[in-house]
Amino acid sequence: MKVLVPVKRVIDYNVKIRVKPDQTGVETQNVKMAMNPFCEIAVEEAIRMREAGVASEVVIFSAGTTQSQETIRTGLAMGGDRGILVESDTPLEPLAVAKLLKAVVEREGPEIVLLGKQAIDGDNNQTGQMLAALLGWSQGTFASKVEKADGSLKVTREVDGGLETLDLKLPAVVSVDLRLNEPRYASLPNIMKAKKKPIETLTPADLGVDVAPRVQVLKVVEPPAREAGVKVASVAELVDKLKNEAKVI
Ligand code: AMP
Repeated sequence: MKVLVPVKRVIDYNVKIRVKPDQTGVETQNVKMAMNPFCEIAVEEAIRMREAGVASEVVIFSAGTTQSQETIRTGLAMGGDRGILVESDTPLEPLAVAKLLKAVVEREGPEIVLLGKQAIDGDNNQTGQMLAALLGWSQGTFASKVEKADGSLKVTREVDGGLETLDLKLPAVVSVDLRLNEPRYASLPNIMKAKKKPIETLTPADLGVDVAPRVQVLKVVEPPAREAGVKVASVAELVDKLKNEAKVI
């Protein structure tokens, strides 16, 4: 069983984001980039499936600029078998990524697409759901546990009231949440080995997908600066401030 893992290159989560002075977006020049943290969890889960003999091959996919190849290499160093890069200089919206993924799924024939629940740059949380809809596949979002059963996949999801367990008919799209696993660090020998693993490079045109943006960003601005907090001496003072200053009770 083949598992396809889409991974996105984003600004490293440790970096303090700066908005560009012209308000067209955030600064990405000379900024440390890394694999989206939820995608790392998806790669880890796919590799564990292969190690457990459940999956036969883990294919790492990324769509974006040439540099996204580095993100694929990170996935290969963690243990992925090979990579597919769809190169595009156009900023890709979730629908465009989902269409590219659909075309790759049709070429590759994986039984599971395991992806992050959301990319920490756009916070869209849409790609997996759109892909499942385009393919007409089962979907399990925000997975905190994934177990393979006969012809199906048991997915435990984190929902508001607690945990929900779904039995998904395969093939399926599964998006992963934070508590699913703790991703491994790639060892130096594995980083070296990953340099020799194959990465196929395609363009959206090769896959017959129009990636032209549908949404126009009008402007990006910093959130308002938060005012400094104050320490209160007693519960009575806190209640008084909540009542008379913040007026929330
Ligand atoms: P989003 O819907 O943008 O929040 O992204 C959810 C997940 O879709 C990510 O965690 C990735 O697994 C996948 N994804 C989104 N954009 C890309 C991309 N450009 N290349 C590869 N995977 C992506």
